Amino acid sequence: MTYTVLSLFPEIIDAYFANSIMAKAVDRGIVAYRNINIRDFALDKHKTCDDAPYGGGAGMLMLAEPLGRALEFAGTGARHRVIYLSPSGKPFTQALAAELAREDELVLLCGRYEGIDQRIIDLYVDDEISIGDYVLSSGETAALVLIDATYRLVEEVISPASLEEESFSGGLLEYPQYTRPEVYATLKTPEILLSGHHENIRRWRLRKRVEKTLALRPDLILRGEESGIFDEETRKIIAELR
Ligand code: SAM
Repeated sequence: MTYTVLSLFPEIIDAYFANSIMAKAVDRGIVAYRNINIRDFALDKHKTCDDAPYGGGAGMLMLAEPLGRALEFAGTGARHRVIYLSPSGKPFTQALAAELAREDELVLLCGRYEGIDQRIIDLYVDDEISIGDYVLSSGETAALVLIDATYRLVEEVISPASLEEESFSGGLLEYPQYTRPEVYATLKTPEILLSGHHENIRRWRLRKRVEKTLALRPDLILRGEESGIFDEETRKIIAELR
């Protein structure tokens, strides 16, 4: 997987790629990244990348020409999925992260100011993606969220076992977890986790996943039921706990 990030502040992205598991994935050649400074593609000697919007209104807009030139440099063929991080985009979810993790290359366009000229979206962008219903001041933080959620799903980055029962896998949240000490501030680790009985632990964990999802994210249960994603054991537990 190659991440190509187009931004006016590439140093924000650099810092992330130098970090822990990501740095190892880059060293091992599983993940690659290119960090493109949009300002390098400005047309004038002042490196101007923004201007006032036609029709008036507050703030500035990122100019089409530097963005278009930067995108042409990045490459926009079938192997490149061009994404504009935008509050108007489709919501970013774990399912979308899994889909994107299977791409050869993601080209991530980070906006600033009031955003970008619509013609860049019309000409180059395959997907507009939003990381949530709020407005950030810049696309770099949104791009980092997307990168963080996708690269760990790229094959060989982390062990498949670590991903199996995570939140959102199988339409449920994760079960509660405990580590040493057995008793902390009078609170005991559930006996079953100390029993060494793998089948009982598996059943307990599934029950806890359902319990937690029903309490905290009942919308996920409804969605899972609608899509028919739950197996019989899970359906039974849902019915019992309701
Ligand atoms: N004027 C825009 C609007 O109302 O939709 C907001 C522009 S925002 C201040 C600047 C940049 O931050 C955007 O171009 C986009 O790249 C990024 N951004 C802001 N909120 C975002 C979100 N929820 N998801 C993804 N990117 C976001």
